[in-house]
Amino acid sequence: MAVTIAALKETATGERRVAITPETARKFLARGLRVLLERDAGASAGFPDAGYIDVEFADVATVLARADVLLAVQPPEVAVAAGLRRGAVLLGQLRPYGAGERIAAWAAQGLTAFALERLPRTTRAQAMDTLSSQAAVAGYRAVLLAAEASPRFFPMLTTAAGTVRPSRVLVIGAGVAGLQAIATARRLGAQVDGFDVRPETREQVQSLGAKFLDLGVSAAGSGGYARELTAEERARQQQALAEHLRAMDVVISTAAVPGRQAPRILTAAMIEGMKPGAVVVDIAAESGGNCELTRADTRVEHGAVSILGPVNLAAGTPLHASEMIARNFANFTELLLHEGELQPDFGDELISNTCIAHGGEVKFAG
Ligand code: NAD
Repeated sequence: MAVTIAALKETATGERRVAITPETARKFLARGLRVLLERDAGASAGFPDAGYIDVEFADVATVLARADVLLAVQPPEVAVAAGLRRGAVLLGQLRPYGAGERIAAWAAQGLTAFALERLPRTTRAQAMDTLSSQAAVAGYRAVLLAAEASPRFFPMLTTAAGTVRPSRVLVIGAGVAGLQAIATARRLGAQVDGFDVRPETREQVQSLGAKFLDLGVSAAGSGGYARELTAEERARQQQALAEHLRAMDVVISTAAVPGRQAPRILTAAMIEGMKPGAVVVDIAAESGGNCELTRADTRVEHGAVSILGPVNLAAGTPLHASEMIARNFANFTELLLHEGELQPDFGDELISNTCIAHGGEVKFAG
C-alpha cells in the first residue's frame, strides 16, 4: 500500500498557510505516494480544492486515521493528533522549545515526530529549512507594515509641492529576516542602515545597498548564529545605538539568539529619544521582543512613537509562504523514504536532530 502524505486545514489563530500545495502534491503523486487533504485545507492560502489534481479530500477524522505522514505548518492540538495511528509520522514546525508536555503526549501515542526548527544550518539542510523560508517572508512583511504605519513616505519624492526626503530605516539583526527587510526597504526607496553582532554580516548588508552600522560589538557564536552579549558589550551597544536612533524614522528589529529570549536592545529611554511619528516593528515580539515596550500582537503608542509587535507575519502572505514551506516539507519527506517506504535513517544528522519523539520515547524534552 502506497504511503499516504496528509495535511489538515490549519486551525491556529490567524494561520492561513497550508502544508501541501498543488505543486508539492504533484511531486508526491509522481513518486507513487498518495495525498490526502482535509476539505478546504488550502483555501485560505489561495489554493482551492479544485486546484489539487488527483488528491483525495476527506474530513479531519478520516485524514488522521489514514495518514502515514501528517505535515503541519503549526503543531496540531494534542487532542487532534490523538486521531493519528500508532507509528504515524508528524512532521512540520512543531514549536518544540518549552513544549515538553506536548512532545510527551505524542511519544506516548507512539508517533514519530520531526520538528524542522531543529534542523542544523548546513548546506544540505537549506532546502528543508522552514525557519529561513518563513523568516524571509516575515522580513518582507515587516517593512510593509512599517510603511503603512509610518506617517512618512519611504522614497524621496520630488513634486510641485516640494521635495520629500527619503525615510531613514534601521534594521537591527541582519539574519535571513533582516536582510530581506533591508532589501524590501531599499526597494521602497528608503535610506537604510543595518547592523548585527556577527561581523560577516557587514558585507551582506552593504551588498544590498545599505550602510553597515558599526557599534563596536562582535559576538559570533556557533553554527552561524550569534551568542548572547555580555553586560558590558550590551551597554556599549546601547549607548552607540541610542545616539543613532534619534535620526531614524523606522526601526525593524529582528535580532534573535536560538532557544533563548530575544535580546533586549531598545529601552524605553531610547524610544523616548526618537522622532515624533517614528515606527518600530519588532518581529522578535513572539520571543519576548527586542524592545522593552513591545507587546505581542499589539500596537503600543509610547509618546509619539508607535511600537508594533506582529506575530506570525509569514501567515500574512499565505500563498507564497505556503509554496515555500510546502517545498521545505516535501524535501524533508523525501529524506524519510527509501524505495517508496517510510524508512528514516536515524544515523543521518538531519533526521536525528529533528526527531523529538520516536518508538514511544521522547527524543527531545522541549
Ligand atoms: P536568527 O533569527 O537566530 O537571528 C537574527 C539575527 O539577529 C542574526 O543575524 C543574529 O546574528 C542577530 N543578533 C543576535 N543578537 C543580536 C544583537 N544583540 N544585536 C544585533 N543583532 C543580533 O538568525 P537567522 O536569520 O535564522 O540566521 C542566522 C545565520 O544562519 C545566518 O548566518 C544565516 O545565513 C545562517 N543560515 C544558514 C542556513 C543554512 O545553511 N541551512 C539557513 C538559514 C540561516
